[in-house]
Amino acid sequence: MSHAKLSIGIAGAGLLGRLIAWQLLRKGHRVMLFDRGPEHGTQAAAWTAAGMVAPLSEAVVSDRFIYDMGRYALRQWPQWVKQLPAHRRPLWQFNGSLVVAHPQDQSELTQFYRDLYHVTGDTQGYQWLTRPALHSLEPDLNDQFQHGLLLENEGHLDNRTLFTALGNALRELGGHCVFDCEVELESGLIHTPSGPRRFDQVIDCRGMGAKSGFPELRGVRGEILQVQTRDLTLNRPVRLMHPRYQLYVVPKPDHHFVIGATQIESEDRSPMSLQSSLELSSALYTLAPAFSEARIVEQSVNLRPALPDNNPGITREDRLLRVNGLFRHGYLLAPAVVDQVMAMIDEGADTEFAPHLLNLSRNALNDNSQSEQRAG
Ligand SMILES: Cc1cc2nc3c(=O)[nH]c(=O)nc-3n(C[C@H](O)[C@H](O)[C@H](O)COP(=O)(O)OP(=O)(O)OC[C@H]3O[C@@H](n4cnc5c(N)ncnc54)[C@H](O)[C@@H]3O)c2cc1C
Repeated sequence: MSHAKLSIGIAGAGLLGRLIAWQLLRKGHRVMLFDRGPEHGTQAAAWTAAGMVAPLSEAVVSDRFIYDMGRYALRQWPQWVKQLPAHRRPLWQFNGSLVVAHPQDQSELTQFYRDLYHVTGDTQGYQWLTRPALHSLEPDLNDQFQHGLLLENEGHLDNRTLFTALGNALRELGGHCVFDCEVELESGLIHTPSGPRRFDQVIDCRGMGAKSGFPELRGVRGEILQVQTRDLTLNRPVRLMHPRYQLYVVPKPDHHFVIGATQIESEDRSPMSLQSSLELSSALYTLAPAFSEARIVEQSVNLRPALPDNNPGITREDRLLRVNGLFRHGYLLAPAVVDQVMAMIDEGADTEFAPHLLNLSRNALNDNSQSEQRAG
């Protein structure tokens, strides 16, 4: 195990870059973090993202590996949030999420329930809701919904406030952040417009900006609408099942809601199409008619960085670690991936994801820490 304090250069101040920089600074390493975008992080996919930490929802469309790492995230995020400097808004909410379908699409919901059982092998962490139970949890949903599925073990983050909180933490710990600075990398070297800088270790966290190091990396386009209304409240993220797409609505502070659905195999970053905008808004209106007077405050597009198997990848070439491929699971996988990177730097672990390093256990979510998580 190495206890040497290293000088570490990180390229990319998106989700991974900020979290890894923070963890390294807390361990006493010297860190310099570069991003081609501005300080707020608006260029990162993680800025555009909805911030859901949804292992059950993702279990039905991903490897078991993703589900296990997601369960780890549910334990780790509340701990991390407690360690960040004080912030005005709750960063982490753990109220579960809801899945609903219109009566004509009820078979989609039933199939989702069966798929969940098939993947998880038990019925822990989710429950079928009758109409009264559903509407007492979320009174503002369209009253035509007859059933719902409550996924109790899911949470979500206020991702944009988290970015600011991480930025503050980096400064407090003496990290050196350089924004509006596009960089290129080599082992032990970061090339900046003002010349090369040498480090004991360089970490590539550039997401889609790292294509030269991960030639097989591809971008998967995602689009979100953000609306604001005081006419209704949602207490947790809600997913609407539909034969062609799944819409998700995530409540954010100040009566904002982030709505997304699309996952398009394209690296096109142009603005949202009229069709996407119409589909998202009309699905939103059918979810809760009170959305009709909501104001559209943002339409955003970004690319999810994905490797061919849609799983995360970490490679090491001497003094250069590359971390990428978080795809649609950045917030879900970040705790496992970041802890793996820390183990590689501090304990010399190899690049295999090693579940024992993460202390994953089947009953991890049934321990006493669960009640603490709800307060986070
Ligand atoms: C619409 C949408 C919704 C999503 N919703 C969720 C969700 O609910 N839950 C979830 O878990 N995940 C979600 N994701 C996925 C998540 O956002 C990504 O997995 C995550 O952001 C990847 O993190 P990253 O740090 O690798 O990349 P990013 O967050 O994209 O950060 C990369 C950073 O590198 C910088 N950079 C790039 N090139 C250079 C360069 N040459 N020099 C300097 N800096 C550079 C960029 O400016 C950026 O700040 C969503 C993504 C999208 C697009």
